[in-house]
Amino acid sequence: MQHRRREYNIVILGAGGVGKSCLTAQFVHNEWIESYDPTIEDSYRKVIDVDGRSCILEILDTAGTEQFTAMREIYMKTGQGFLLVYSITSLNTLTELSDLRDQILRIKEAESVPIVIVGNKSDLEEDRAVHSNRAIHLSEKWGRVPFYETSARKRQNVDEVFLDLCRQMMRADAN
Ligand code: GDP
Ligand code: MG
Repeated sequence: MQHRRREYNIVILGAGGVGKSCLTAQFVHNEWIESYDPTIEDSYRKVIDVDGRSCILEILDTAGTEQFTAMREIYMKTGQGFLLVYSITSLNTLTELSDLRDQILRIKEAESVPIVIVGNKSDLEEDRAVHSNRAIHLSEKWGRVPFYETSARKRQNVDEVFLDLCRQMMRADAN
């Protein structure tokens, strides 16, 4: 087989304030920045090694300011893997993920798509409002979608969620 360039589009989705931009900055630049303009939507490139294979990732950190517009359809269509992020400090942010997944599947006309459920702000245990069982339940309902709790602040499980998503995208590619 010819040597193939692996290039993947990742889209980061979730309610405002859950930590999408902080997770992206930790993954791409290894830095913690306390506060971002919540309306900033940008994409970042990073090359990572996945099980000895080099992958180029194009990561779109969404801001959700576009509501349901053509833009959103375009990035859901071009996205090959999705991080669906909620905050463990807010139950609503978990509940909102179901609509996002429905939209992704509808727009991609697929029954399943590489997804990781991410419960961010795990360092804020004292403010926890979402028991991990809730996310595990959702993960099982969706056909065992991988689930991780992360802390962008402490850089916990950040690489792991991206790596898991990459492995899923590589498997989807091979089929
Ligand atoms: P976005 O709207 O989803 O992009 O959220 P941001 O990345 O801008 O983060 C929103 C707020 O949550 C900021 O004040 C961050 O400092 C805070 N934040 C993000 N991730 C974490 C985390 O893992 N732990 C804690 N304690 N705060 C976080
Ligand atoms: Mg943001």
